[in-house]
Amino acid sequence: MSIQVKEVSKFYGKQKALDSLSFEISDAEVVGFLGPNGAGKSTMMKIITGFLPQSSGDVFVNGLNVMEHSLEIRKQIGYLPEHNPLYLDLYVKEYLEYVAGIYKLGKKKKQRVNEMIELTGLGLEQKKKIGALSKGYRQRVGLAQALIHDPKVLILDEPTTGLDPNQLIEVRQLIQDIGKEKTVMLSTHIMQEVEAICERVLIINKGRLVADQASNNIHSIKESHMLDLQFTSAVPQAFFQSITGITHVEALANHRYQVSAKTDVREQIFQMAVSNNLVLIEMKSQERSLETLFQELTRQ
Ligand code: ADP
Ligand code: MG
Repeated sequence: MSIQVKEVSKFYGKQKALDSLSFEISDAEVVGFLGPNGAGKSTMMKIITGFLPQSSGDVFVNGLNVMEHSLEIRKQIGYLPEHNPLYLDLYVKEYLEYVAGIYKLGKKKKQRVNEMIELTGLGLEQKKKIGALSKGYRQRVGLAQALIHDPKVLILDEPTTGLDPNQLIEVRQLIQDIGKEKTVMLSTHIMQEVEAICERVLIINKGRLVADQASNNIHSIKESHMLDLQFTSAVPQAFFQSITGITHVEALANHRYQVSAKTDVREQIFQMAVSNNLVLIEMKSQERSLETLFQELTRQ
């Protein structure tokens, strides 16, 4: 188990930012950490990386208690903080050498810096000042510094926020490549990003966990079909039971029914209605978007 978070709460003064949060992340998993602004994502990430103490609860990274081993933990974790603080006056290569120095990479330093420049596609920019780089390239520098000591665990706080569409695709691809070998936890408020990069998604709201599932599972929820039907007379339960794919039926007033299904069952419903002499006078379909699902999950 790479990361274990056990009933962690965090107060800023009287304000509760995390409310008894618990989850685990296995080795080499790529997990999306999703939630609206103010949900507590950055707070949780700062606690996991040892930059902020929790008020209560325990966090373990690679089996070590973060509070007790914060220096050792920092060697095992690569962290890209939310606003990616970089020294804008330093040159890219100079900055990465400086970071490599902090991690005491010794003889491996030069080689490691060059490898990171290669990996993050900074070859042409390495002699530029960080302040002269576009946001996308600054994010690459942030990723390079997070990876330089070859950590097993990467914590990336909104790594793609503020990127233009092309940069977004490139940085996502980079994270996906990195994620093949490492445990990655990345925060975002974009659902599509989780679908594109992550195997699993943790959704938090107001400091509490509201969902923990495989991201392709989220996809199937998204693709579940919702139909509003109206007949001229009551429809027996058996009618809906005979149609495969229907997962839930709610009977409403005036012979209206709300049907949830795993597949598109409109044609079957129509055919069945005809062969059972039931008059279907209305059929409306609504597909739940990821955003709707997200809202449902994070609504109080
Ligand atoms: P997210 O990253 O999901 O947007 P944060 O972890 O930044 O959420 O914030 C969670 C809550 O804690 C918010 O209500 C925020 O205002 C509050 N908060 C964050 N940092 C501080 C701080 N240093 N002092 C006081 N309140 C804070
Ligand atoms: Mg944040």
